[in-house]
Amino acid sequence: MKVPFHRPFIGDEEIQEVVDTLKSGWLTTGPKVKKFEQAFSEYTGAKHAIAVNSCTAALHLSLAGLGIGPSDVVITTPYTFVATAEAIQYVGARPVFVDIKESDFNIDPVKIEEYLSSGANKELRTRALMPVHMAGQACDMNAIMAIAQKYNLHVVEDAAHCTEGWLENYQGEKAKVGTIGDATCFSFYATKNITTGEGGMLTTDNEELAEKVRILALHGMSRDAWKRYTAEGSWYYEIVAQGYKYNLTDIGAALGLVQLKKVEKMHALREKYAKLLTREFVDLQEIIVPTESPNVRHAWHLFLLRLQLDKLKISRNEFINKLQERGIQTSVHFIPLNLQPYFQQTFGYKKGDFPVAESVYESVISLPFFPSMTEEEVGYVAKCVKEITRNHI
Ligand SMILES: *Cc1c(COP(=O)(O)O)cnc(C)c1O
Repeated sequence: MKVPFHRPFIGDEEIQEVVDTLKSGWLTTGPKVKKFEQAFSEYTGAKHAIAVNSCTAALHLSLAGLGIGPSDVVITTPYTFVATAEAIQYVGARPVFVDIKESDFNIDPVKIEEYLSSGANKELRTRALMPVHMAGQACDMNAIMAIAQKYNLHVVEDAAHCTEGWLENYQGEKAKVGTIGDATCFSFYATKNITTGEGGMLTTDNEELAEKVRILALHGMSRDAWKRYTAEGSWYYEIVAQGYKYNLTDIGAALGLVQLKKVEKMHALREKYAKLLTREFVDLQEIIVPTESPNVRHAWHLFLLRLQLDKLKISRNEFINKLQERGIQTSVHFIPLNLQPYFQQTFGYKKGDFPVAESVYESVISLPFFPSMTEEEVGYVAKCVKEITRNHI
């Protein structure tokens, strides 16, 4: 049996909707984008949802819209995709990494406070926190928002993995991801929980920020450019800021509209497969399954298996090769950014700076885990993982 790392969950409905867009005569940002934004705003409960062409763009626009720039610091995690730190640099700010928690691989609020009270980088102002909801499990946003309030910082969430997530706030109320920080950024990249091929969404409850972001996302034009070509618009526009070209197409939004309708159905499958895999591995002391934090709804973007390397006679890389030999494609999320040459050369980060992130990285494998998997495929993955583990105790 061959199991790919990912296979899209696209049905006739998505195809119909995209064909409808192609036949409509309107391909770029237009009525479908508006509908997708409205639907996403309803789904998350956020006041404003602004569709863009990637999560990276959403992260960049959030920081730009909040006025973060040169000689500012943004605190984030080294255990993320490079896009998070790149977006910080797009506005000229400096990414400062703090280590993660062993339990959920999310940024450790205790270490954020340690950095803030340490007096490091005194010549620079820390302006924002950029937590990443790793694998789909929300960070400890209650602690993070409290720190932000105490130090007067903005919060921009990288929710690329966390479209379906929520957590309970201190009042015991359900706080949906997308309604917590100043801005939240979602990814609709091909492998994410819902997809538009390439795409992203920025949500915020802040009207002023939303207005700024809309302008920045389309060349700094003062009004929706797509209206220029409709009966309600005119040819006239003003450039009021240095903007970017970050708008989503109606073709992408058509896909997103249908995907969003299916998001809870797909999430139910993700949850089901997570439970299935967890049950299969429960007796194995040599591997650690993902833990679910209490009072958090896991979006289950990734299933991160950790090997107890001291109990195994096989390395993580060899384990991956053994799975490959059995036709199973895996991945590793993520290589900590302090191990990447660019971040070492630019900011002086080095191996050893973030022991938790590094030890998680050395022992982690992302299994194939997606809603279009069959139960047979999930069973085969579980069987192979158990076999390889038992052969190397
Ligand atoms: C995928 C991903 C991004 C970037 O998303 P794009 O839509 O491809 O720009 C950012 N952060 C994390 C954690 C991701 O996994």
